[in-house]
Amino acid sequence: RAKAAGGNRFELADPEADARAITRHGLTTALPAALERGEFFIEYQPLVRLDDGTVHGAEALVRWSHPQHGVLGPDRFIPLAEHTGLIVPLGRWVLEQSVRQARFWQQQLPEGALGMPLRVNVNLSPAQLHHPGLVADTVEVLERIGLPPGGLCLEVTESALIGADEDLLKPLRQLAEMGVDIALDDFGTGYSNLANLRRLPVSVLKLDRSFTQGMQQHPADPVDLKIVEGIVSLAHSLELAVTVEGVETGAQADHLRRLGCDTAQGWYYARPGPPERLHTLLLADAV
Ligand code: C2E
Ligand code: MG
Ligand code: MG
Ligand code: MG
Repeated sequence: RAKAAGGNRFELADPEADARAITRHGLTTALPAALERGEFFIEYQPLVRLDDGTVHGAEALVRWSHPQHGVLGPDRFIPLAEHTGLIVPLGRWVLEQSVRQARFWQQQLPEGALGMPLRVNVNLSPAQLHHPGLVADTVEVLERIGLPPGGLCLEVTESALIGADEDLLKPLRQLAEMGVDIALDDFGTGYSNLANLRRLPVSVLKLDRSFTQGMQQHPADPVDLKIVEGIVSLAHSLELAVTVEGVETGAQADHLRRLGCDTAQGWYYARPGPPERLHTLLLADAV
């Protein structure tokens, strides 16, 4: 970080900041070749139904196995990919892998064992949302791989949709009409107008981790409990399902279940991991 230099724009050199800028630059220029060389991989984190603890899906989370820096999390490179536009081909790759994986899980499971078809959640960046090929690409992948649209849930952050006009919402609306679920990710961090929710083609609210954090201590933060209770009741009155992120303890899960949340995701259930791990969990559920 640049040192506070009292308004002087010629700040003292900060070797750490320089190193970070050089790394950022290096990572940015390495992104396209990394995609071609297959250095990205996806971990899947189970989505669990709070009422009976069964796995009903998984969120796809991309990672970069960098030859020098080791495994990098998405926060290190997604913003860079957004900036250069590489997010579009990278996002398409994530979508294709995830759809293949969901198709594989659906085929592997005894029919109806979970009461509903398993689905995969894929994150969409704002740049992908603005890309004109989004609907066509998504339809093409689903059809080619043979996953019913209901097997896919696209996650869009609340902040990406704040102030969104009809042009931006149209592709999401088209996908929703086809049966693809749309989730509002990191909900509660973006200061959006709650009344605005009715206008959005979303069927799931993903409550941000910051809400579940207040339920970790004993007793739980009463204000957090009230807020979540209010959001859940609003969401349900709009016929939206509520998923909670960042559940790390059994106590949190108990609170969230009592407050009427539908599904949960977090380390308490499982960390993100290779697809085989989820496969094992699913088969354990099914017996
Ligand atoms: P997100 O969509 O909100 O994903 C949830 C993040 O919370 C993931 O971080 C996950 O590993 C982490 N997490 C899950 N359970 C817990 C828990 O119990 N405690 C804590 N402390 N953390 C938990 P991750 O994998 O680092 O991903 C960060 C963000 O990067 C994601 O946030 C998402 O916005 C973005 N991202 C990941 N994959 C993709 C992708 O394929 N495309 C795009 N556009 N963005 C992606
Ligand atoms: Mg997400
Ligand atoms: Mg999230
Ligand atoms: Mg989040």
